[in-house]
Amino acid sequence: MKLNNIKGVFLDWAGTTVDYGCFAPIQCFMKVFKDEGIDVFVEEARQPMGLKKRDHIIEMLKIDRINNLWNKHFGRQWNEDDINRMYKRFEEDILLILHNYAEPIKGAIELTNILRENNIAIGSTSGYTKSMMDIVASNAKDKGYYPDYIVAADEVKAGRPYPYMIYKNAENLSIYPLNKCVKIGDTISDIKEGVNGGLITIGIIKGGSELGLREEEVKSLSKEDLTRRMDIVRDKFLKAGASYVADSLEDVKDILYNIDKILGISTTEERKLLFTPGPLSTSEGVKKVMDYDYCTWDDEYKNLTEKIRASIVNIATKNTKEYTTVLLQGSGTYSVEGTLSTVVPKGKTLLICSNGAYGERMIEICEAESIAYIAYKEEYKNPLSIETISEIIDKNKDIYALAMIHCETTTGMLNPVKEVGEITKKHNILFIVDAMSSFGGIPMDISDFNIDFLISSSNKCIEGVPGFGFIVCKRSEIERCKNNKRTLSLDIYDQWRVMEDTKGKWRFTSPTHVVTAFYKALKELEDEGGVEERYKRYSKNQKLLAESLKEIGINSIIDKTVQSPIITTFIYPNNINLSFNEFYKKLKERGFIIYPGKLTKENTFRVGNIGKIYEWDIRNLSLCIKEILS
Ligand SMILES: *Cc1c(COP(=O)(O)O)cnc(C)c1O
Repeated sequence: MKLNNIKGVFLDWAGTTVDYGCFAPIQCFMKVFKDEGIDVFVEEARQPMGLKKRDHIIEMLKIDRINNLWNKHFGRQWNEDDINRMYKRFEEDILLILHNYAEPIKGAIELTNILRENNIAIGSTSGYTKSMMDIVASNAKDKGYYPDYIVAADEVKAGRPYPYMIYKNAENLSIYPLNKCVKIGDTISDIKEGVNGGLITIGIIKGGSELGLREEEVKSLSKEDLTRRMDIVRDKFLKAGASYVADSLEDVKDILYNIDKILGISTTEERKLLFTPGPLSTSEGVKKVMDYDYCTWDDEYKNLTEKIRASIVNIATKNTKEYTTVLLQGSGTYSVEGTLSTVVPKGKTLLICSNGAYGERMIEICEAESIAYIAYKEEYKNPLSIETISEIIDKNKDIYALAMIHCETTTGMLNPVKEVGEITKKHNILFIVDAMSSFGGIPMDISDFNIDFLISSSNKCIEGVPGFGFIVCKRSEIERCKNNKRTLSLDIYDQWRVMEDTKGKWRFTSPTHVVTAFYKALKELEDEGGVEERYKRYSKNQKLLAESLKEIGINSIIDKTVQSPIITTFIYPNNINLSFNEFYKKLKERGFIIYPGKLTKENTFRVGNIGKIYEWDIRNLSLCIKEILS
């Protein structure tokens, strides 16, 4: 694979490319303090790592415990003379041992080879001074590791976290812009140096100072212990602003390929990732099957329809005998309209529980189809109240059916389907759930929730393309709809009857390409490990997204306890000088499509994470959002 877009890479030295675990400076710092009569812990010696070594000594002296020990021992505060004396000692000590700490870390030479093959400049920065660096660099070169340029901490006005060493590298290597360059290091001050310089920044865990373990120690730790420690370091890096965290230097090349791809996405012809709740990003496989044409009356095609119907019921419930499904052409709303108008007979009343735009759409449908209804409207940001629903049902004895949304895509809120299902069962009321944006992405058994009609569509969590909806329903209940006809093409009873009687024929022309793509998508859902595994992926990605944006002060609008793993609504920051439209356009230029908000009062935007979207994509999106908004 070729790297086309990264302009330069800046590597740290000790703990990143040489001296696994970054032990040379540690022992010298500890010795210098010991010689003064003060015993310091390894953790204390590590804490400021990455800084210029004189600054490092000052930061250690500032640690409360050390400061107190000093005052007790000397009966006075430490001063400039002390720092000079200690630093002089440090310098003498480390110069004597540095030649032993220049062994390249695994992956360092391979990485520079890849960079050179791709004509990417390799700069380097360090907390060491020039005299220290000379020793390390010449020994490392003998062992095969050498960057194109080296800047030491005392060759610029100020060391890390200032980005001046990077600037000096860039000038001498003639590389720019820095937002197309990558900084790689193993300490918090490395990350800050990269962030302050406006670079894409990668933190390295294994071999680095933050983890602070020798190679043998990393190997001998239990898996749980190592994972726990690595998670702590990863967290610190991300909090310090790292764009990426690599387990080890060997993992960096994959990240670079990924960064390169993102940097390269700039024109409209290229692939866009849809962070929207459907249509969404689909797999190559799903797109491929649409290259072929199919006819609708053929047995093979009818068979496909039957297989899809069986799969949907299997996903919906263990109680497959009692449930059946019907597929209906059109977008999801057609299926909602088809369901409401087929299920609620003339003269009967529907209770609609709404806290968002999709609940309100049900009201619009009732108005258009002359279906008698009562609406319980809750504020968009509020969960539906079980008490209120109970009260309404108690007061209105003629309610025949209740309809609500599972995941209200307007806000991303998950509504209490289980609790409402208990009420409808108790009162013998039909229960209709629009689970459009959640079916296939959130595990549930509709039989356990007493759902009589559940509606979803081809382009949501099953990850197919748009073109039809489907209704999973109790066989006994759809049979009761026989004489309810209000509409022809949306009549779900007729549609179901024909599919049943003909074993898979759609009443009118079916969206053949969409259907075959959906069949493929179902197979891929199975390959992923079913709804449970998909739910895990969505949940992890949603959390990652919310946490990354929170770090830059962008908060989601609803409480975590009711947040779905499907889509998140964020409050658009009002302290920046960039309209949402410009923000949207800039993200689109980089290949990311997000979703405008739908709330009337607040300025919001939405990010969906269903579809073929993985951890990298979320990280890249967060990175771009951070970059654009800062
Ligand atoms: C997507 C969606 C719909 C259907 O919208 P269409 O644009 O008609 O496909 C209905 N309800 C919810 C909750 C949805 O997320």
